[in-house]
Amino acid sequence: MPKNKGNLYGNTTTLINLILCGMNKELLEQTKQKLEEKKKQLERELSSFASKDPDVKGDWDTKYPRVPEGDLEDAAGEVEEYSTKLHIEFSLEQQLKEVNAALERVAQGKYGTCENCEKEIAQERLAASPEARLCLDCAGKQ
Ligand SMILES: [Zn+2]
Repeated sequence: MPKNKGNLYGNTTTLINLILCGMNKELLEQTKQKLEEKKKQLERELSSFASKDPDVKGDWDTKYPRVPEGDLEDAAGEVEEYSTKLHIEFSLEQQLKEVNAALERVAQGKYGTCENCEKEIAQERLAASPEARLCLDCAGKQ
């Protein structure tokens, strides 16, 4: 039954295409959710010790500790804590920027493409770090 065989082949191809499209969409949706969650988590961490800078988008300011009067030892401890928090703030802020940039790329339909060589970034790499901007090759060269 060559006729039927031909039909079957045609249907199978359509089916495979449908499945592939569906999977990619689903994967992108999952990635988007992952990024949104990461964003919320980072913002929550940041807001526990820093406040959002109303003038600069994406910038946070660590709250300066209230230095108790007349207690130098306490004051030194507070300043040290402040400097540690500044480092954490910087690192969280950087991560948040990457996550926001990735979400923007999802919105623009550019997600998953290397910013340097424009090749597709490997699925495993995106699964490990959904905010990755570069493919493994380009990231290794930096
Ligand atoms: Zn690349």
